[in-house]
Amino acid sequence: MYDFCINGGGMVGATLALGLARQGYQVAVIEPVMPPPFEASDGPDLRVSAISEHSADILRALGAWEAIEAMRVRPYDTLSVWENDGSETAFTANMLDMQQLGYFVENRVLQLGCHEVLQSLDNVTCFVGNKVRRFAFPVGGGAMAGLVDGTEVQAQWLVGADGAQSVVRKAAEIGTTGWQYDQRALGMTVKMSSPATPHTWQRFYPSGPRALLPMYDNYASLVWYDSADQIQALARLDNAALAEKVSEAFPSRLTVDGTTFTVLDKAAFPLTRAHASRYVTPSVILVGDAAHTVNPLAGQGVNLGFRDIECLLSVTADHPDLTSAAFFRALQTRYEKPRQRDNRLMMAGLDSVYALFSNDLGPIKWVRNQVLAVTEKVVPAKREVMKYALGLHQWKF
Ligand SMILES: Cc1cc2nc3c(=O)[nH]c(=O)nc-3n(C[C@H](O)[C@H](O)[C@H](O)COP(=O)(O)OP(=O)(O)OC[C@H]3O[C@@H](n4cnc5c(N)ncnc54)[C@H](O)[C@@H]3O)c2cc1C
Repeated sequence: MYDFCINGGGMVGATLALGLARQGYQVAVIEPVMPPPFEASDGPDLRVSAISEHSADILRALGAWEAIEAMRVRPYDTLSVWENDGSETAFTANMLDMQQLGYFVENRVLQLGCHEVLQSLDNVTCFVGNKVRRFAFPVGGGAMAGLVDGTEVQAQWLVGADGAQSVVRKAAEIGTTGWQYDQRALGMTVKMSSPATPHTWQRFYPSGPRALLPMYDNYASLVWYDSADQIQALARLDNAALAEKVSEAFPSRLTVDGTTFTVLDKAAFPLTRAHASRYVTPSVILVGDAAHTVNPLAGQGVNLGFRDIECLLSVTADHPDLTSAAFFRALQTRYEKPRQRDNRLMMAGLDSVYALFSNDLGPIKWVRNQVLAVTEKVVPAKREVMKYALGLHQWKF
């Protein structure tokens, strides 16, 4: 009997497994599709995440960051956002006396780094390449995950870390509220003629933002948000034709000083908002995208998942008797309640940015450029915005 069975060994599930195992619990992880092992000669992966310094600290504390960094990460020290020239707001690491604001990390590198450390722990069992066929929740408590190969994994708690389409969430009959945004995103991996500086930027257009995320060597990731029709049309182009469209549509700083680039890979993503009505039941806990999926326009999704983990681990650290009513109550009051509130606040904030910047109405356009100009000039306000985005500061309610 395991203490925790985590369904989904992605970035969030694997990190949680590490945390619970470090606390001495017996942990099972079920992950159907592991990425191939990392080779330094591998090209960059298309799925890249902005990881805040606070998230990196969590991974450091759990002993995974070293393995991730040994593969590759790209620190960045400046983030600029603007709509009209002259209304640019730049957030820099210097302003917070930090070396960097965060890191760009390929999703699979982060996942592989966590699994590398998991393999060295003898209280963790990973069922990789296997999948749940059915769940059962015995009357006496706990949960059972029946895998396709016939293995039955019994645990005191079943954790859903299986992403936006969580099967654990469905099995526990936990509903969600949310919607699909009108915009879609096209993520592209590009190779530049010179190394990208540690400076990430995002320019807002009425049809959605266009952003550059620097990666290692000469690689960078570009994200183009636009209407579903436009993204579908762009995704159908071959890479050379897409590069031409990007040159025309992206801010001129992409190709400043004669810099050229080629598109290596691309994929379109829907933009979804979804929030689970509950994060815990008497035998199930949801974390990461299984509990909340947010608009990726500010690169917050997995960082919220890491904050879930931090919060959950503070509860499991204090309540070793996992079958007690006190533990379940603590999950509700010290995990579900504060995390739902924080995640709801982030969703509302992201929706405000989305609504403010996704239209071409004259007065609204004026207001948003004023907001950016004021944020640029009022240094204390700017610091607070940065601290929140970097997970260094929780807003009080
Ligand atoms: C275009 C785009 C850009 C983004 N950029 C950023 C960013 O810059 N910064 C940021 O913080 N976030 C970003 N996000 C969000 C981020 O990708 C997600 O928040 C993050 O992947 C969530 O991690 P997770 O481990 O909870 O879920 P997932 O990454 O979805 O992982 C779920 C895991 O569960 C496994 N799984 C799936 N189904 C099952 C099943 N039935 N049984 C068992 N296992 C299963 C999967 O194989 C996977 O390993 C972005 C998202 C998009 C779409």
